[in-house]
This record gives sequence, C-alpha cells and structure tokens, in this order.
Amino acid sequence: VTEKRTMLEVRGLRKAFGAVKATDGVDLALAEGEIHALIGPNGAGKSTLIAQLCGELRPDAGSIVLDGEDVTRLPAFARARKGLSRSFQITELCPDYTALENVILSLMLTSGRAFQAWSNPRRDSGLVEGARRWLKEVGLGDRGDAHVRDLAHGEKRQLELAVALARSPRLLLLDEPMAGMGGEESARMTALLLGLKRRYTILLVEHDMDAVFALADRLTVLVYGRTIFTGTPDEVRAHPEVRSAYLGE
Ligand code: ADP
Ligand code: MG
Repeated sequence: VTEKRTMLEVRGLRKAFGAVKATDGVDLALAEGEIHALIGPNGAGKSTLIAQLCGELRPDAGSIVLDGEDVTRLPAFARARKGLSRSFQITELCPDYTALENVILSLMLTSGRAFQAWSNPRRDSGLVEGARRWLKEVGLGDRGDAHVRDLAHGEKRQLELAVALARSPRLLLLDEPMAGMGGEESARMTALLLGLKRRYTILLVEHDMDAVFALADRLTVLVYGRTIFTGTPDEVRAHPEVRSAYLGE
C-alpha cells in the first residue's frame, strides 16, 4: 500500500464568537482523493470550520496547510486561486443567465480569459465546449439553455457543482449539498459525488447519514467545536461514544 499524500492538514483551529467557542481546537487531515465526511449536531462548528478553511473567517489560532503549503494567513481570493474555495453556494448562480452561461462565466473567471471573452463568450468555442462537458458531468447535459430561475432545486445544486468543478478545485468543500432535497434528488446527488470519487478530494458536511455512509472513506465527528473521532464508517458505527454523541442513542 502506498502512502497517500495529505491534501489538507488542519491543526488546533479555533474561533470564538464572544463566549461561544465555535471551533475549539479542530484537528483534521484529508488524504488526496478521499471523501471525508464531517458530521456532528447542529451548532457543532461545521460551517465555521468551512468558513475558516476558505478564508471567510480568520482563525483565532491554529494552522491550515494545503498540499504542503501553509495558507492560514492568505486571504480568501488567494486561497481560491490555489484551489481552496467553498463550493455550492446558491447565491453564486446568476438567476437571469442560462445554466450554460453560468458555467461559461465560471470558466472565464478561472482561466483569465474574461476580458477577451466578455463581449461574446458564445463565440469562444473552447469555453462553450468546456462548459457543456461540465454540464454533462453533473447530469444537466440537456438543460444548458434553461434559465437558472427555471431550474428545480436539485438541478440548481447540480449546476452549482458544475460551476465549482469548472474552477479546477484541488479540494471541494461541500456544506450540506443535500439540504432541502427530496429522496430522489439526494440519491442523484449522491451518485454524482460518487462519480467524482478519487478524482477530487472532498470535505463533505452532511446530515443525511445514508449519503454519508454511501460516500465517505472516513468520517470526522465534531462536537462543541472539537474533533472527538475520526475513522471509517464501520469504525464510526461500532464506536459507542460516537453513536451517543451524534446519533442520539
Ligand atoms: P454547524 O454548522 O455545525 O451547525 P456553526 O459553525 O454554524 O455550526 O455554529 C457553531 C456555533 O457558533 C453555534 O453556537 C453558532 O450559534 C455560533 N456562530 C456561528 N456563526 C456565528 C456568528 N457569525 N456570530 C455568532 N455566533 C456564531
Ligand atoms: Mg452548518
């Protein structure tokens, strides 16, 4: 067995909001190509951790190392350029543009072709073809001409995934991608994420435990801002402390 590269290493990350210690010494390591789920009760600090990783929130203490490089002090835009940005933000989609145009926009902003392509992106066939590929990858191959405002909730989230992938991320930070989805939609999203396995390193915050157990190579359990456990899904299932903390048993 070859030792996998560490894609992300988080040590002792802390963030307090007044008296609330949202993250209180989080340790976390992600191996390249793994899907690592982050679970824990409401208020455990999962979203705070994601915001600290992408640079939206400045940590009070601790370090964040991306692929061997300490990025703790870099601002969000500089981390994004290195492939570390939050994925899946509904607010990121332009509602009056089509699905295809949204992916084209993401490609333009990443590739630095914004200025040449801005006047008429559809004439730049490389961008259009690239965008079509990402739409197909997320199962929206036939929805390119639909306006975002006309997409179903699940389709919007699929599009967000395409927008994120178009940015060539090294790490996908997914904060509850299945939130608000029905069974059929979340099964489709689970299948999509399974299809990305090994090609991307993914940190997945998710409450849907069926999805978590179907997807995750390892899980970290966060309670009151602290990492209380990291292990495989089987180890989590077998661990009584984790079961009582998270599953409420
Ligand atoms: P989770 O995503 O695991 O549900 P959060 O990271 O959103 O948890 O929240 C962790 C704790 O920090 C909670 O007690 C929450 O109320 C608090 N918190 C989060 N963001 C803020 C903020 N901007 N200002 C004040 N308190 C916050
Ligand atoms: Mg949250």
